[in-house]
Amino acid sequence: MLFEKIAAYYDRLESISSRLEMIDVLTEMLKETSEDDIREAIYMTQGVLGPPFAGIEIGIAEKLTEQAIERASGYKVSEIDANFKKTGDLGTSAGQFAEKSKLKRMSSNKFTVKETFDILLKIAVTSGSGSQDSKIRMMSELIASSSPNGAKYIVRFAMGTLRLGVGDATILEALSKAFTDDRKFKTELENAYNICSDLGEVGYILAKKGKKGIDGIKISLFKPIRPALAERLSTGEEILEKMHGKCSVESKYDGMRAQLHVDKKKGKVQIYSRRLENTTEMFPDICEAALREIDADSVILEGEIIAYDEVANIFLPFQETAQRRRKHEISAKAQSLPVYMFSFDLMYLNGHDYMEKEYSQRRMKLEEILKKGKMLRLADRKVVDSAKDLEKYFVNAIDEGLEGVVAKGLNSKYIAGARKFSWIKLKRSYRNELSDTLDLVIVGYYLGKGSREEFKFGGILCATYNDRKDVFETVTRIGTGFTEKLLEELREILSKIRTTGKPARVVSNVEPDFWVEPRYVVTVRADEITKSPTHTCGWNKHEDGTQYGYALRFPRIVSNGIREDKGAEEANTSHEVAEMYKLQKKTKLS
Ligand code: AMP
Repeated sequence: MLFEKIAAYYDRLESISSRLEMIDVLTEMLKETSEDDIREAIYMTQGVLGPPFAGIEIGIAEKLTEQAIERASGYKVSEIDANFKKTGDLGTSAGQFAEKSKLKRMSSNKFTVKETFDILLKIAVTSGSGSQDSKIRMMSELIASSSPNGAKYIVRFAMGTLRLGVGDATILEALSKAFTDDRKFKTELENAYNICSDLGEVGYILAKKGKKGIDGIKISLFKPIRPALAERLSTGEEILEKMHGKCSVESKYDGMRAQLHVDKKKGKVQIYSRRLENTTEMFPDICEAALREIDADSVILEGEIIAYDEVANIFLPFQETAQRRRKHEISAKAQSLPVYMFSFDLMYLNGHDYMEKEYSQRRMKLEEILKKGKMLRLADRKVVDSAKDLEKYFVNAIDEGLEGVVAKGLNSKYIAGARKFSWIKLKRSYRNELSDTLDLVIVGYYLGKGSREEFKFGGILCATYNDRKDVFETVTRIGTGFTEKLLEELREILSKIRTTGKPARVVSNVEPDFWVEPRYVVTVRADEITKSPTHTCGWNKHEDGTQYGYALRFPRIVSNGIREDKGAEEANTSHEVAEMYKLQKKTKLS
């Protein structure tokens, strides 16, 4: 399929205001896409150049793109730059110059989706001397061979500003509709995606081999599994009731989640983060230890990497562990700030899938293969059958400086990519009134009045993620708590992701001055969760017969910046806010 065609679909997607319509257009697009192009068509629609663990960053600098437009259109960089200042979007500018320069166009090549993708990939990975010029050349060729509409989307994609607002769940639903007549097949597609984390691959296999092909997608080394997530409850009693009277309680370490893939014969170890990014380079010490300490040929296991101060005998907070993100400091930090990995799950062992096995069995094997572990240790745990014992374990964990505990169902499977009651967390913060913070996604912003006017910024509209409906629901407007640094950062990044209207997957009754693509997550604290006649978070007909959503009272930002470790779909869910509202009511009564 020619890229032009997909660009026409992108244009339609952009003007849509509901998720259902979005699915219909995507379904049509996927049906029309050939097998040869489908993998790339899916990646492009996601706005990426591969799955997250491939670690390929798109993003060509503004100045280079302007030079590429100059070469393709014959207009001068100064003219292009002036136009860009007016439109605020270099994609739109590229489209306009492509339109104006129709007669001067150098190339009449038309690229397919795959060819376009391959060139963009080449642009992304080209480095070294002379690379600037080859990037400009390749980019200008792409622009010159496109229609104005195609040029617009090529530039947006390359600059990382494609604002289609299509989520993974939306693509899965469209794939299911396009290639099967079975609505329920979406669940199987989701399962396949949860174990390979590669949506392009899932789409390609479905198009090429049909349902049978999807059955054949199995857990494999060096393809990260989408992590299991925990639900939350506020007392040992509630947890034990959910767990039918008996469960395992594990210490909850506040470090960085790590999924370790080890192939001993090849001497290969890779580490993936909660967001499935490859973080191997951050932890050379853990990689060495994995080859030395794990008693197995090949394994996929999961745990929490956390820095530990041996002199003071304390676990260090997340921020300390996260310092390893700074590349140049890694080897120095490996000396001065040793980390440990506390393993808590096992998904694959010596060629066998362990995800379907019961927790007790997985844990037993984990204990066997980590017997020699020094840097790779086991997460502490205890099997309990009374709320009193669970609470006692919890209090001990807090005394040791940990964040809380995670209870696990003894017979539960490893449920990839989902928040289920087989894991339930109990954190210190749930004990006080809403002292737990919320991670919310920004969906819009307001212009400032008064002293903020010079920043042209007056606050943000934030939403939760409704994971059941795959939409974002507004929960609060926030105008306070911003440091000047964060304010600057927000002004800069939000203006780049403005959308022309409300993004299709945002459900809202309020209208900010500008809508933005739901992409950035911030951490927020509030005094209380209240019922709201306006906000759509958790909007429902409730037990008392009335309809309402939830909102936050006195919300303020607590993070110093954007939560880079979380994507939009990893914000707190609407369902969690509804649960927190209930917990809060109970705490107040007791
Ligand atoms: P939260 O980030 O608050 O939703 O809590 C879930 C996170 O706790 C997981 O993603 C892990 O990174 C972390 N964690 C720490 N210790 C454990 C444990 N023993 N079992 C499961 N998750 C744990």
